[in-house]
Amino acid sequence: MNFELTDEQRSLQVLCRDFARKEIVPNRDEWNANKRFPIEVFRKMAELGLMGLLVPEEYGGTGVGAVAYVAAMEEIAKADQSVASTWNAHLTIGSMPLLYFGTPEQKRRWLVPLARGERLGAFGLTEPDAGSDARGIRTTARPDDDGWIIDGTKLFTSNAGTEMSQGVILLAVSGARPDGVKEYSAFMVPRGTPGFRLGRNLNKIGWDATDTRELIFEGCRVPADHLIGTAGVGLRQFMHALAIGRISVAALSLGLAQGCLEVALDYAQQRKQFGQTISRFQAIQFKLADMATAVENARLLTYKAAWLYDQGADYAKEAAMAKLYASDTAMSAASEAVQIHGGYGYTDEYVVSRFFRDAKILQIGEGTNEIQRLVIARHLGC
Ligand SMILES: Cc1cc2nc3c(=O)[nH]c(=O)nc-3n(C[C@H](O)[C@H](O)[C@H](O)COP(=O)(O)OP(=O)(O)OC[C@H]3O[C@@H](n4cnc5c(N)ncnc54)[C@H](O)[C@@H]3O)c2cc1C
Repeated sequence: MNFELTDEQRSLQVLCRDFARKEIVPNRDEWNANKRFPIEVFRKMAELGLMGLLVPEEYGGTGVGAVAYVAAMEEIAKADQSVASTWNAHLTIGSMPLLYFGTPEQKRRWLVPLARGERLGAFGLTEPDAGSDARGIRTTARPDDDGWIIDGTKLFTSNAGTEMSQGVILLAVSGARPDGVKEYSAFMVPRGTPGFRLGRNLNKIGWDATDTRELIFEGCRVPADHLIGTAGVGLRQFMHALAIGRISVAALSLGLAQGCLEVALDYAQQRKQFGQTISRFQAIQFKLADMATAVENARLLTYKAAWLYDQGADYAKEAAMAKLYASDTAMSAASEAVQIHGGYGYTDEYVVSRFFRDAKILQIGEGTNEIQRLVIARHLGC
């Protein structure tokens, strides 16, 4: 594996770093404090061609590959987790099911506007009674003439309720085999479909400027051509889409951990106690050394998974490892960064307090870290 980014990959990284510095960092406090979804940022990202990084050019994207995507994500995630997590859900789980399983017509109709950044993508798997246990979902889709009627409630869906949201790609129970085993299918449900309404936007401890909602489906009819992929195998399709999502959450975590390291190091070199900067104390040096080592490990695992993806090789185990390790690193780096800032780190005057609140979900979303361990163990043959 070559760890050097190509010139193209580096240009994308620099573009994202500059964008974050100019457009995100100066405004992030306002968005987060007011819990305001910054639609203008995504419009600008669309102008820069950043909303379809994993989608080939023929469908409106730039198809830069996963390694370039990780490099880009680290830059945005270091600046603001609300923007980065919205971008993450859009680029991976919100778009990839259409790329992987959509018909050419479905790609033209729904993937192209997503990849161009005219619309925002969303993925609805989780429900009030089914999170880790995806097979336990209760939303149903029953055949009706040449369409399907969807009933149920999705919870914690990212990106479905903004002005630029396209709708949601959801999973529903669509029947049962003769032996009683449930079958699942995936559907695109566009905004404005009768019977589909937005529920409450959840108040969270972090990711303050993101849209995370309940979605309600009551007798919601979609035509047959809204079925994504093959009827009956939707669960397998969703699991496949989640694997690239895990590389993305690893990159989101990597950015947060790197951001914590940078601000904590800077603070330690400024803050004086006992007549010297606190960076002179070995206790603080060891924290920074441990953070830097873990960040580097997280980076290697994340790039390895992304590299495998780009090679067309199996990457599911490495994606789970990267997500597990990088998100744990993000949480511990955020905690240590607050510790290094002392009482100031507990106030909203320093970005580390927000990193600390944002970090926790990284260990929960896209499959909790307990579930990542189960995935890894399964790959080991357990
Ligand atoms: C901000 C945010 C955004 C989200 N965005 C989306 C989205 O866009 N789309 C979407 O579909 N979902 C989304 N989610 C949902 C997220 O993926 C789920 O919260 C997550 O999968 C866990 O499900 P749960 O919350 O129901 O927890 P549970 O599944 O109820 O888990 C509770 C605890 O039990 C543990 N546990 C469960 N089963 C096992 C087991 N077999 N072995 C060991 N431990 C176990 C879990 O690890 C966890 O610690 C989002 C959530 C949040 C908070």
